[in-house]
Amino acid sequence: MPDCLFCKIVSGEIKGNIVFEGERLVAFRDINPQAPMHVLIVPRRHIDSLNELQPSDGGIVGEMVRRAAAIAEEHGHSAGGYRTVFNCNADAGQTVFHIHLHVLGGRKFGWPPG
Ligand code: 5GP
Ligand code: ZN
Repeated sequence: MPDCLFCKIVSGEIKGNIVFEGERLVAFRDINPQAPMHVLIVPRRHIDSLNELQPSDGGIVGEMVRRAAAIAEEHGHSAGGYRTVFNCNADAGQTVFHIHLHVLGGRKFGWPPG
């Protein structure tokens, strides 16, 4: 996906503040953090949104969620808690169409979300 921002961060064409690089995933800090810790976890492979996930993508999504827990732990937020969010399409405010899991921590979060 030549025009995808997150594909460019994954490939290194655009510099990201990387916190994790694995075989199938990359995680980097959000450019506009909404909490003291705000990391985005993305698959290296381009997938537009949750709506395009296939049954065979279960493994990668599970890996993303487990990585979120690991990153929260590394930042010291396991016990206190943290928020994970997948936004899908316009009503949820998705702005980058390469799936990403937000991992936020270091403050209290409201519920229901805005
Ligand atoms: P969405 O609204 O699609 O769920 O989340 C997209 C996120 O990407 C936003 O939180 C936004 O701040 C972040 N973002 C947008 N452009 C960049 C960028 O160039 N670099 C990084 N690291 N994050 C970005
Ligand atoms: Zn992409």
